[in-house]
Amino acid sequence: MKKDRISQKRLNFPERLYLAEILRGLWITGKHFFRNFLMHIGRALGVVKKRRGAVTIQYPEECRPIPAGYRARHRLLRREDGSPKCVACMMCPTICPANCIHIRAAESPDPTIEKYPVEFRINLDRCVMCGFCVEACPVDAIRMDTGVVEMSASDREEFVTVLDFLLDSKPAKNPV
Ligand code: SF4
Ligand code: SF4
Repeated sequence: MKKDRISQKRLNFPERLYLAEILRGLWITGKHFFRNFLMHIGRALGVVKKRRGAVTIQYPEECRPIPAGYRARHRLLRREDGSPKCVACMMCPTICPANCIHIRAAESPDPTIEKYPVEFRINLDRCVMCGFCVEACPVDAIRMDTGVVEMSASDREEFVTVLDFLLDSKPAKNPV
């Protein structure tokens, strides 16, 4: 029976030196380097006006501006008396595709409001930042306008945001 074999082209001596490939790599790197270098000098001297060279952002010291409408970490809004605006209607945990919102509701002492959240947790470790919770909320109690997009932790528990934290979170200075 004939065996299936993966045919591999044997490299000749010059190919095994990889000299041509090394020179090709250096040519590509050098081309980009000198093009950007000359472009920046040209712009600094006012010779080049329309085009610009590549700009490296020195992250994390320097960050890109967050565009309008960008979905960042959540916050919950308060009423004028400081109580949560959320009426624990359960729309957001129902629509959440990542099943990462947990709410425990209780009867509100205010007769005009049926319920309020005693517990409100969002597990950011699972959240896919889809924004469905914001869209589903009938009372505009949840928003994703904090501008906080850098979320890292060494412990999974740190990704769980709780009611007080969500209520105390502030919107970004330049609202998104
Ligand atoms: S942004 Fe999407 S995934 Fe995250 S909590 Fe809201 S509905 Fe769930
Ligand atoms: S949809 Fe709005 S009101 Fe309803 S539970 Fe979620 S945050 Fe609260």
